[in-house]
Amino acid sequence: MDRIVYFDNNATSRVAPEVSDVMRPFFGELYGNPSSMHAFGGQVARYVARAREEVAAFLNCSPEEIIFTSCATESDNAAIRGTADWFGTATKVITTAVEHPAVLQPCRRLKALGHTVVELPVNGVGQIDLDQLRAELKGTTRALVSIMWANNETGTIFPIEQIAEICQEYGAIFHTDAVQAAGKAKIDLAEVPADMLSISGHKFHAPKGVGAMFIRRGTKLKPFMLGGHQENVRRAGTENVPGIIALAKACELARLGLDAENERLGRMRDRLEAAILAKCPDTRVNGDRAHRLPNTLNVSFEYIEGEAIAYMLSDAGICISTGSACASGSLDPSHVIRAMGVPFVALHGSVRFSLSRYTTDEEIDYVIDTLPPIIKRLRDLSPFGPDTNPTTFQ
Ligand code: PLP
Repeated sequence: MDRIVYFDNNATSRVAPEVSDVMRPFFGELYGNPSSMHAFGGQVARYVARAREEVAAFLNCSPEEIIFTSCATESDNAAIRGTADWFGTATKVITTAVEHPAVLQPCRRLKALGHTVVELPVNGVGQIDLDQLRAELKGTTRALVSIMWANNETGTIFPIEQIAEICQEYGAIFHTDAVQAAGKAKIDLAEVPADMLSISGHKFHAPKGVGAMFIRRGTKLKPFMLGGHQENVRRAGTENVPGIIALAKACELARLGLDAENERLGRMRDRLEAAILAKCPDTRVNGDRAHRLPNTLNVSFEYIEGEAIAYMLSDAGICISTGSACASGSLDPSHVIRAMGVPFVALHGSVRFSLSRYTTDEEIDYVIDTLPPIIKRLRDLSPFGPDTNPTTFQ
């Protein structure tokens, strides 16, 4: 392919050159095991300790509260299953209908095992009702709440500080999946009283295969990975040292450039959004435009299919995601878009553009020029349109 114009950064992101540079020695001369007794391993352990300090600085917590994992799916599972294991069968788990499967699936497993699990509904812009959260927490003694910091499909940011305070008020353990917030929103664990938090390196310019978990001092949970004594016996398994070094560098880059980068991303995203809405009729933005990650734009093009848009953009070298998941041979609309009550005519036509520090204004222009003719062509081919009898869609 001649040209790749990458607008799928919420799926995964390019490894920053600064990040690959710092990893390289750990594939070469610095190959010791940080758990070894000898000085050669000890040298690597010191690099890991420094990396832990950097990740802690990024989240504003203490290094002892960070454990390294293989990905956010592991961090989410460890938080949810580990807390329920500690509490026992009477745990009440409260989550939302729009979480990533890395949270929803472990919660549903707990339900199958006899725990009480509540998936809070969301409104039209993807926000929960905080009074409903309070009502679910009332009278609970062993509750775990898992609510994402920001949604991966729409970019909607939840009022995490308020949610954490409500959980604190009711004595519930609060975990937040901050995978999409990391590097795109300020995370300050001195201000947000969350008990646990998950992040993943590959979403903000570190490689795939490394994540981290914040566990606030004093939080009780049983380890998910059992085996050796690594990570203070909280996560067994020899550490992915190059990945950990890389994650720390990505945290440093994100921490130092966050405000300026977010301003630039928001400006580019808003330009793209305005141009799409102006040039493509019957189009709607999904998510909370007032509380949204600056890099994310989710749009529904009514009467056409997101997959067709994605394929045609892909032919032009543009990478995006659709809101549908291919399940058992049929294309089901995303659970997130569905939970928001997006009307049927717009449900299948949702696509996500997600920008990064490498996105340029010239790439935005390219999408603005390429997309509208594709939408027009697909609409011309579609049997549906504003004049179609709505009962056709039932
Ligand atoms: N949580 C959210 C919100 C995500 O967007 C993703 C990945 O898309 C994950 C969890 C899973 O992350 P990982 O790929 O590191 O397992």
